[in-house]
Amino acid sequence: MSPSEIIRIPILPFNIVNAHLIKSGAGCILVDAGIPGSERKIARILSRHGLSFKDIKLIIVTHAHTDHAGSAACLRQLSGAPILAHKDDADFYSRKQPMTFCPTGRVGRLFLKTPLPHQPYEGFVPDIRMKDGDSVKLQDFGVDGIVRHTGGHTPGSIAVELSSQDALVGDLVASGILIGGIAFTGHAIRPPFEDNPRVVASELKRMVEAGAKRFHMGHGGPLAAAEVMRHARSLSNITQSPATACHCAHPAHSTASNQSGNGRSANHL
Ligand SMILES: [Zn+2]
Ligand SMILES: [Zn+2]
Repeated sequence: MSPSEIIRIPILPFNIVNAHLIKSGAGCILVDAGIPGSERKIARILSRHGLSFKDIKLIIVTHAHTDHAGSAACLRQLSGAPILAHKDDADFYSRKQPMTFCPTGRVGRLFLKTPLPHQPYEGFVPDIRMKDGDSVKLQDFGVDGIVRHTGGHTPGSIAVELSSQDALVGDLVASGILIGGIAFTGHAIRPPFEDNPRVVASELKRMVEAGAKRFHMGHGGPLAAAEVMRHARSLSNITQSPATACHCAHPAHSTASNQSGNGRSANHL
């Protein structure tokens, strides 16, 4: 299998919001779909690399926030590619449940008061639906890598790990200032929202220990493994008293999480 190339798609300038393409000899995989109306920006980057919508073989949506899932339904129509996503965010994708947010601090709380995180998008049902701790190998799509359920940021967050030691992790970690990007993009920060920092910490540590060297993210980045490890260690030290813990409700997922018993999709702090 020929080595794949990671191409960043700037959905907003200064790395504030990114999607990515994994380009291989067989075409490409789109990781995240940007905010609603991102299709023209994505088309421009595709054509700059000699590709078109028809070369997209798979659309991986890392989680249900509008800046990642916003244009997925439209891009599926334009490309004919299936959407891969996790069942634990499915009710958000289909718009059955309103999205819930656990702010990580002042920036997240302020951001939540703006219309941006609540921007509605066309609902969809993923064609390939991961459940619990499922993983999906990407060989059939021409890429040597795997998609795993990583939870932590939202109940159904997933991440892509490639044999090239690149990891595409959505919002498992961000870098920069404010909501991410702009400046200091080599410095890891928590994204504005995060359900469970401990789950995030253990997933990031696992990926670094498994050999991931470069982390590509939705906000800011890319980050080197050592910085991701530093961030993961500081996340594991967060102690949440009942007063500061986030009580974001994910009613559709609490039962599934309890039943699965693996704790990976636990999202109530
Ligand atoms: Zn997010
Ligand atoms: Zn995001």
